[in-house]
Amino acid sequence: MEGRGGKRCPLQPLLLGILLLLVFFGYGFLSSRRPMPGGLGVGPGVAVGDPDGRPVVALSRMLYPQPKALTPSRSDVLVLTPWLAPIVWEGTFSPEILDEQFRLQNVTVGLTVFAVKKYVAFLRLFLETAEQHFMVGHRVTYYVFTDRPADVPHVLLREGRRLEVLAVRSHARWQDVSMHRMEMISRFSEQRFRHEVDYLVCVDVDMKFRDRVGVEILSPLFGTLHPAFYSADRRAFTYERRPRSQAYIPPDEGDFYYLGGFFGGSVAEVQRLTSACHQAMVLDKANGIEAVWHDESHLNKYLLYHKPTKVLSPEYLWDQQLLGWPSVMKKLRFVAVPKNHKEMRSP
Ligand code: UDP
Ligand code: MN
Repeated sequence: MEGRGGKRCPLQPLLLGILLLLVFFGYGFLSSRRPMPGGLGVGPGVAVGDPDGRPVVALSRMLYPQPKALTPSRSDVLVLTPWLAPIVWEGTFSPEILDEQFRLQNVTVGLTVFAVKKYVAFLRLFLETAEQHFMVGHRVTYYVFTDRPADVPHVLLREGRRLEVLAVRSHARWQDVSMHRMEMISRFSEQRFRHEVDYLVCVDVDMKFRDRVGVEILSPLFGTLHPAFYSADRRAFTYERRPRSQAYIPPDEGDFYYLGGFFGGSVAEVQRLTSACHQAMVLDKANGIEAVWHDESHLNKYLLYHKPTKVLSPEYLWDQQLLGWPSVMKKLRFVAVPKNHKEMRSP
């Protein structure tokens, strides 16, 4: 087409008309799209099952930027592990597509959190901010493990969300409180969770949500990059280095250093993970050794030999007081609430 240099192309008005028609019809379809969460009026159109046993659902028409095969969604971070698990960073996913997919599957997500002894004080902010940012538009069950059921705050929950208080004993040492989470999650997965929810998300309570933590994290087995080690060499990871411990990892192994305070997956996979970590800790105890970072050390050992199917970037657990806000973090989604360790962990 000779459009440049002053000479007008005779086809221009026609092309403009076609363009206008396309925009008009595109807009017509867009505005007739059904509202997002809730209504299940669309034909199901179930196709093949995925490896997790969840069906692939037929979506309705949606308008969103086209993915470009030659344009990476992020060029500053690793978005895929060598075993082809996505690493979830802002900019790599469409919340609209994922919300629609998981809504059509009507998934229920269990969020486990331990608030033992003084840590019940963290619950209100944790729950109130979770109502704003965690799996909004989806079915959620909060499982609050505590030795102080009377101190669990009453927080108004949105529709489709409920809270269950699960009684646990307390332990004198904070390390034991932390480690026994594995045993409790494994036991309750077997007894209850597998009948009640599809996925489990297991997190620390000394935290608040400050941006979206949604279905983009869900996968059969996921772990989160520790905010203090995401750029570190594997030799600098604080893995357990004593061969006598079940959590031992030699210096020439290791993919990432994962956090003890944010992992999850399908109930079946979380049950396998927590029960394996618990058994490893029982063995360590019998052998008179405790891994350097307790449950986190065992989680790291497990995830080295059972590769996660998704990895969450440190956007999903950040400590702003300690680490500031580097530009690679486009969003801080779930952040540590500053605490006085000594005071909180004293009896
Ligand atoms: N925890 C608890 N009561 C305690 C100690 C720990 O409920 O007395 C739980 C709580 O869920 C906490 C988690 O164990 O978030 C891990 O401990 P902490 O957050 O103190 O570890 P840190 O994040 O400082 O490494
Ligand atoms: Mn914590």
